[in-house]
Amino acid sequence: MLDFNAFIVSRNGLYLNRNAVAFIVIENSYNPIIPFMSNRTRAHLLVLGTGFGAFNLVKNLKDDYEIIVVSPRNHFLFTPLLPSTTVGTIEFRSIIEPIRHARKDIRFYHAEVVGIDTAGNTVACIGVADKHEFEVGYDVLVVAVGAVSNSFGVPGVAEHAMFLKELNDARELRQRIVRNFEQANLPGISVEERQRLLHFIVCGGGPTGVEFAAELNDFMLEDLQKAYPHLVAEARITLVEAMKEILGAFDEKLRRYATELFARQRISVLTESPVTKVDETTVYLKDGSELPYGLLLWSTGNGPTPFVERINLPKDNRSRILIDDFFRVEGFDNIYALGDCSIIKNNPLPATSQVAQQQGKYLAKSLTRHARNTDVEPFRYKHLGMLAYVGDNKALADLEGVKGRGWATWLFWRSAYLSRIVSLKNKTLVLFDWMKAKVFGRDISQF
Ligand SMILES: Cc1cc2nc3c(=O)[nH]c(=O)nc-3n(C[C@H](O)[C@H](O)[C@H](O)COP(=O)(O)OP(=O)(O)OC[C@H]3O[C@@H](n4cnc5c(N)ncnc54)[C@H](O)[C@@H]3O)c2cc1C
Repeated sequence: MLDFNAFIVSRNGLYLNRNAVAFIVIENSYNPIIPFMSNRTRAHLLVLGTGFGAFNLVKNLKDDYEIIVVSPRNHFLFTPLLPSTTVGTIEFRSIIEPIRHARKDIRFYHAEVVGIDTAGNTVACIGVADKHEFEVGYDVLVVAVGAVSNSFGVPGVAEHAMFLKELNDARELRQRIVRNFEQANLPGISVEERQRLLHFIVCGGGPTGVEFAAELNDFMLEDLQKAYPHLVAEARITLVEAMKEILGAFDEKLRRYATELFARQRISVLTESPVTKVDETTVYLKDGSELPYGLLLWSTGNGPTPFVERINLPKDNRSRILIDDFFRVEGFDNIYALGDCSIIKNNPLPATSQVAQQQGKYLAKSLTRHARNTDVEPFRYKHLGMLAYVGDNKALADLEGVKGRGWATWLFWRSAYLSRIVSLKNKTLVLFDWMKAKVFGRDISQF
């Protein structure tokens, strides 16, 4: 076990004794770690993750702490626009922001955290690039590692389905869509095989599944149609939902509107259709039907990350870390958790970006007050409503007192997300991407 107070990790990954610091300052004065480490007057705040919760925490903290961030992702990802990147309505780099841009004075390690030693106040990490193992110490720890897609133990899902959580997932989906069209276009492909390749199935009728189906349909009608008119006529999208209706969290009228809109488009909606098994080519439903597919997106909800499952912190029956109204983990006064990996014990909130974002901002404020020995109020969540894109330049808005749908709501959807994007650079890029897709169409290259 490494003693954090005795060792630091240098830029090239070596462990260095604190006595070596003076030497390094002379030899290597541009090393960003040295000035940071030389100041031990402030408590070390270690943040795990670079998602909505962590990004908003780090961005809004004052300078009462020395901030260390560890995450396998060195950037923040604006997930609400992730479905748009799967078909090229928006480009990948337009919705990410390097964590180092959140503030200049953080120390960031590009690594996955694999364990916590709560007695020794250290976390064990594995570097992303080279699997290099090291430990980082903390005075205050914030766990904001999010969640993963949950396959709910349905056989074959983990092996054969695709997911939509990270930018890599979106890139794979974009590649697979075009690859399937190219493959279906080859001479000698049987009719059954062509129809299978061109059948796109989405499991899960929540906002992510619905938005992906809507974006894919737009892509087919607006862009793939020009390149593969004979194939687009054969292509199908099927949205499979285990419950009675899609978009279960939305107002009833909005749910009905989305279902009717999908019926008018090429999207078949199968409700009350739990999936029992998946293999390489077929989705099996509980009623005995078999759906051959060329691409299967699985988007049925969240489950705990392997890290959260492994660590020994108090959790609920869905393996979410139990926290109080101040986000303190039960039984610890220097460990906090927020966002999708956590649940407030007596006030469960949905796993959404607006919850994680508000929690990040709140914790920044309360940790600052804590450092300054000022009273801290418990967290109060303010629900701002829900939005979803449903295709054909139409969206839903389920806001307090306002239930919007259609084209005007789509304009509102776009402006609402544009205003929430974290930097001027990304706002500009997203605006530009939208205009580019409208004027020139989406790119259909596969590489
Ligand atoms: C496609 C999609 C669309 C969505 N659309 C919306 C929407 O329109 N509106 C809305 O409110 N919500 C939306 N969400 C949900 C929203 O993205 C999440 O609720 C939100 O991101 C949760 O924030 P978080 O900080 O808890 O976790 P995340 O934002 O998921 O961030 C988790 C971070 O932890 C890091 N991490 C993971 N494991 C480790 C580890 N072992 N060690 C260190 N770091 C780790 C990850 O790399 C990541 O940086 C969407 C989600 C998806 C996937």
